[in-house]
Amino acid sequence: MTHRQSPADHQVVAEEAKAKAKPGTWLPVLVYRSSVTAGNVARLIGDGTIVVYRPRGSFEAYAARHESGTAVWTRYVAGLDVEPMPDRLTVRVPDYGPQRGYEGVRIATVEISSRCSRCGGPRGPVRAHSFVRDGARLICDRWTNACGHVEEYSAVLAEARQLAASAGPGGRNRRKPPIAGVDGGRYKAAVDLIAEYLREVPHWRALSASNVVERAGHAEAARVIRRFVQASPTGHSTSARGAALYLNDLDTRTRMAIKDEAARTKGATK
Ligand SMILES: [Zn+2]
Repeated sequence: MTHRQSPADHQVVAEEAKAKAKPGTWLPVLVYRSSVTAGNVARLIGDGTIVVYRPRGSFEAYAARHESGTAVWTRYVAGLDVEPMPDRLTVRVPDYGPQRGYEGVRIATVEISSRCSRCGGPRGPVRAHSFVRDGARLICDRWTNACGHVEEYSAVLAEARQLAASAGPGGRNRRKPPIAGVDGGRYKAAVDLIAEYLREVPHWRALSASNVVERAGHAEAARVIRRFVQASPTGHSTSARGAALYLNDLDTRTRMAIKDEAARTKGATK
C-alpha cells in the first residue's frame, strides 16, 4: 500500500472513507515525521476540528508507528455499529527458540499492538490455526492484514518482548486509569460492577464479566458484551476492561447524539 504525499488532502480522504463499499474501513491519511504531529492530527480528525470530518464523531482516527514515521489512519463510522479498535491484541505464536536447528517449539501467548508493524494499518482478523508437531496437536493464531503486509512470527515475538519490557513497573500498562461508567448511561451500573472486579482481577476476561453482569441483573449489558467478544479479533481472550470501555463508548455516543439533537431542536425554534 502506498501512502499519500504531503500535505494531507483531507477532503479526498474523507470522501473516500465515506464512499467505501465496506463501511467502517480504516484508510491511511498520511505518514508524519513527528509522532506528536500525527497524534494531534488524529485528535483533530476525531473531534471534527478539521471541518471535512464533521459532524464531530462521524470519523475515528488514530496514530500508529509506521516504518518511515507515524501514520494516521481514519474511518467513517457515522450511523454504523462498528466495534472499537483495541490498542492491543493477545495472540498465540509458535516460539522456536533462539537457536538455529533447534527442533522444539512452544506456543507463547503474547500481547502485541493491534496495528501492522510496517504501516500502522489494522492487524487481523485473527484466526486459530492448528498444526501437529512431534505427534502433538498445537494451536497458534494467524492473521491476514488488509494492508497486505505479511508478518514473521519471530518479529512478532520481538515486538511482544519490547512491549512487555516497556510495560514493566511504572510502564504504560501499570498506569491504566481506573474505569468508571458514564453518568446517566444505560450501561453505567454494569461498567461500575466490572470496574470493581477489575481492581481485584486486572486480567479478567470479558466472557466471565458477561456472566457476572448477567447474574447482577444487567441482561442487556451481558448480551452486548457477548456480541463484542464474538466480533473481536481476540475472541475469547478479549479483556473485561476492553468490554467495559466498549460499553462506555456506546453510552458516550448516545449522549453525544442526544446533545446534537438538542442543539438542532434549539436552533430550529430560534
Ligand atoms: Zn501493513
